[in-house]
Amino acid sequence: MSLHLYDTSARAIREFVPVQAGRASLYLCGATVQAPPHIGHIRSGVNFDVLRRWLTRSGYDVTFCRNVTDIDDKIIRVAAAEGVPWFVVAERNQRAFTWAYDTLGCLPPTVEPRATGHVPEMIVLMERLIERGHAYAAGGDVYFNVMSYEQEYGKLSNQKLANMRGAADTDDESCKGDPRDFALWKGEKPGEPTWPTPWGPGRPGWHLECSAMATKYLGPTFDIHGGGIDLVFPHHENELAQSQAAGDGFARYWMHNGMLKIGAEKMSKSLGNSLLIPDMVQKVRPVELRYYLATPHYRSAIDYSEEALLEAAAAYQRIEGFVTRAAEVIHDVDADAPLPQAFVDALNDDLGTPQALAVVHEVVREGNVALAKGDKEAVARLLAETQNMLDVLGLDPRAPQWREAGSDLKPVVDALVAVALEQRKAARARKDYAAADAIRDQLAAAGIVVEDTPHGARWELGR
Ligand SMILES: [Zn+2]
Repeated sequence: MSLHLYDTSARAIREFVPVQAGRASLYLCGATVQAPPHIGHIRSGVNFDVLRRWLTRSGYDVTFCRNVTDIDDKIIRVAAAEGVPWFVVAERNQRAFTWAYDTLGCLPPTVEPRATGHVPEMIVLMERLIERGHAYAAGGDVYFNVMSYEQEYGKLSNQKLANMRGAADTDDESCKGDPRDFALWKGEKPGEPTWPTPWGPGRPGWHLECSAMATKYLGPTFDIHGGGIDLVFPHHENELAQSQAAGDGFARYWMHNGMLKIGAEKMSKSLGNSLLIPDMVQKVRPVELRYYLATPHYRSAIDYSEEALLEAAAAYQRIEGFVTRAAEVIHDVDADAPLPQAFVDALNDDLGTPQALAVVHEVVREGNVALAKGDKEAVARLLAETQNMLDVLGLDPRAPQWREAGSDLKPVVDALVAVALEQRKAARARKDYAAADAIRDQLAAAGIVVEDTPHGARWELGR
């Protein structure tokens, strides 16, 4: 089966056929940088990182564009409350997002454009819309005229214009021809930053900037547009309307990840704060947090609980345990070994990560049996399969990303422990058990736990 993806627009799973053979273009609505990210924000980054890795592994040359919304109402409000310029807030939080993406192993996007760097492109798009009769300037603002696009507007979110309420995106509704018209551009207000346009100074509307940046980097028609399910309306509906009304084909597939919910309660401020990424990676290691976020299907909601997080960490440690032990026996892992067919089928079926990880756990179970039997050939095959599958998911414990600090000292410690273990073996051979036990106890005092296996003694640091 080839890759199939759920397309929100078609409300169905469709075969993925790219605009250009061998290439895949992907736009993801990234951060609005008014605050540092919590795990709800980063979930989308992890989900689409898995998609990007899978497209790459499937042979596509991927262009991945993830934007930064560095100007909007909330950023301006936070800056005013702190008494600092808007860009201080935007820069600080963008750094927090970049750190969080990096920490959770999300590969950097091909391009990461910022809204405020693309005002000329937005002006051109507004000019095209005004020329075609789909937008108008009024009172310093520029609005999209929804009635001019009545037949098409609402098709992504599956609703009719007649049933929609006003956009409620301006203080002065009297400028609008129709309350459902939405702002492409917001005219100057006291104390707010502005950029010049033919219709007067102002700042970008949120929807317009994504249309301008997506088509600048991916072309007028591109493959996949992604984001959280909460963005379908109005943000994505408006992006689609603007771009298609201007004559662009825009995205051919719309993919949306589910939300992360906090039990039955709303994400209260105190609880929300404890879910910030720096705090989360104190509860579990970053790779375990990634496993927690990547295991559920991207379209299903996650009900956050610390219990489930710790269970996920324990499940990941079972996989890691096999990889660590197997890698002590097998030194050359075949990175080109084929992926198990069931794993490939799972990811091709709308990125089925739960089924894909079930395959990983099955292979790990077989691998542990092979290790216990001392079947080196089987261990080599199963280790290669496991690591190659984990690589696709960004979860390979041996990837440089996840190596712990000081792990480059491991070969040195290995050699020192080997000397001690040789002496212990010699002591046992001459039946000097007191000396043998003393060596083991001294290693234990240094935090080194020795275990006898079919492949000889092995050691690890006690936890
Ligand atoms: Zn967007």
